[in-house]
Amino acid sequence: MINVEKLRFTCTRCGNCCTDKNTLVNLTYLDILRIKNGLDLDINEVLEIIGFFVFDKTLTVEDKQRMVLSPIITEKGLAFIALLKNSLGGCFFYNSTDKKCQIYDLRPMFCRTFPFSVQLIEYYEKEAKIDIFYTEKGKLYCPGIGKEAALIDQHHWIKLSKKTLEDLKKNYNVITEWNESVKNGKITPSVKKFLFNIFKLKDLIKPS
Ligand code: SF4
Ligand code: SF4
Repeated sequence: MINVEKLRFTCTRCGNCCTDKNTLVNLTYLDILRIKNGLDLDINEVLEIIGFFVFDKTLTVEDKQRMVLSPIITEKGLAFIALLKNSLGGCFFYNSTDKKCQIYDLRPMFCRTFPFSVQLIEYYEKEAKIDIFYTEKGKLYCPGIGKEAALIDQHHWIKLSKKTLEDLKKNYNVITEWNESVKNGKITPSVKKFLFNIFKLKDLIKPS
């Protein structure tokens, strides 16, 4: 693990990460399953809380390589999946009255790891060498990462980082299989069909 002993973070519960108008909370299929099952939603109710955001430009190979989550082919074009916004531009699930997340135990991976991001550097003697670092958004608006913040709980963040990388790999495999099937003409790229497919998967992260 790189850097982990130097990182500082104490959440001040300011809500910036939940209310930023320019932030979309990206979702893995595991996030969707966790929220769907945790809130007992049917497919139409799921579509009331998540969006498939179509890219407004053709993505280059470099664009795709920079993305943490692979885009998915839909009937409207290549898209990424994210939580919808509330009327104020914040996250759909942010309660601005009591300043709390309404699905805290079910929250997406993106929210669990903020203001950090993780990256697999390499495997050395079967051990994953992982880098954990502040995201650009974290540096931009998270007041919890100042010098006065406490050093992070290394055990917690190492465990979470490993879990995050596992989930990203599973998500990559599911999206790649979907996109390949669309390209090969085996399935039509319907958002509803994609959701039905992932609802059949058994993978489910237990609420923390
Ligand atoms: S922006 Fe940082 S300090 Fe504020 S609620 Fe989010 S994680 Fe906590
Ligand atoms: S899901 Fe919860 S923690 Fe994540 S951005 Fe929305 S309100 Fe904040």
